[in-house]
Amino acid sequence: MKQLHFILLLFLTFHLSGQTVTYNHVVDSADTDTKAVMTLFEKYLSSNPQNQEENPYWNAKEQQNHQNYDFLESEFHPSLYMGMPVHVLSIKFFGDLCQIKAQFSYCQDDGRPYVLAIANYYAKKEQGTYKLFNALTINKQYWNCATVGIVDFYYPPDHIFDEAKAQKLNDFITNTCASFGVRPKPFEYYLATDYDEIQQLKGLDYYVGMGGQLAPRGKSSDDKVYCGGLGEYYPHEVFHVQIDEHFPNKHFWVSEGIATLLGGSRGQSLHWHIKRTNRYLQQHPEIDLSNMLELSNMDSQTAYHYVLGGLIAKKIRDKGGWSLLKSFMSSGKRDEDYYRAIEKYLGVKRSALNGYIRGQLQLEAGK
Ligand SMILES: [Zn+2]
Repeated sequence: MKQLHFILLLFLTFHLSGQTVTYNHVVDSADTDTKAVMTLFEKYLSSNPQNQEENPYWNAKEQQNHQNYDFLESEFHPSLYMGMPVHVLSIKFFGDLCQIKAQFSYCQDDGRPYVLAIANYYAKKEQGTYKLFNALTINKQYWNCATVGIVDFYYPPDHIFDEAKAQKLNDFITNTCASFGVRPKPFEYYLATDYDEIQQLKGLDYYVGMGGQLAPRGKSSDDKVYCGGLGEYYPHEVFHVQIDEHFPNKHFWVSEGIATLLGGSRGQSLHWHIKRTNRYLQQHPEIDLSNMLELSNMDSQTAYHYVLGGLIAKKIRDKGGWSLLKSFMSSGKRDEDYYRAIEKYLGVKRSALNGYIRGQLQLEAGK
């Protein structure tokens, strides 16, 4: 959350100054094709790509097939194109394909550089003019693909595909969509042992948040999920891609809570997170859960929005089944809406939340 505030502040600062593009060292900068690609990239960056509107610099096919055609745009919040200066590191040709490697970074007041990402794009001629392409579109051709049910699974050549897990994921989709009364939609599912392999596939050589111990990680966008560490079965992110768009009027904790109730978080079940959260909160009586929405990560394994959001979702389902959970999914976006929904559906006032949650954690941990 701190990082989010920091990035938002940067956004406000950079948005006023606009997007600048500089070059580290361009080999063949006098070459006609190199020049054309440089101009293309500069024009794209100055065309407000954060809005993802129809764009003359991006290829037509990806624009036709994807509402958010630049897959890296939403990789950062509020956008990769928050106005941070872009420094092009290299422009490299592979036959008719050209790779642009660009660093999104700036120099802090104390002189230290801050790097948000190093991202790769491709440029290729479309009817005689260079257009931009997602690195994912180019790179995924070198991965394997298997279609099971409504899911296109993409995986690295050294991965042995697990048909049974792929089927289990389809069963999860069928059951979850039936529970929420929505039609399942086909999507692409990218999997690898290490999440950073997927980031590389998407074109990110570096991104803020890279590193740490190898642990399950996932992310979903409107028509894709990216999952590291759990193979063909990462239900949490699949919940987001199937259900979220049908219930736009919900709080972030509602969606994350139900995703965790049904699909766990970071490779562990809701029950696992509840047990360790219960222990942790017993050691920390000073934490006031009547302000729980202000809490973000408990530690590197458990985040409050997953575990407490999951607990609330479970209590609501226990009380009124899927129909009550569906109402909860449309109970408003603001923090006060979330607290009010808890009072409405569970009869617990915000002032009583600290005692209620601690009691329920204890009860569920013992099950
Ligand atoms: Zn989630």
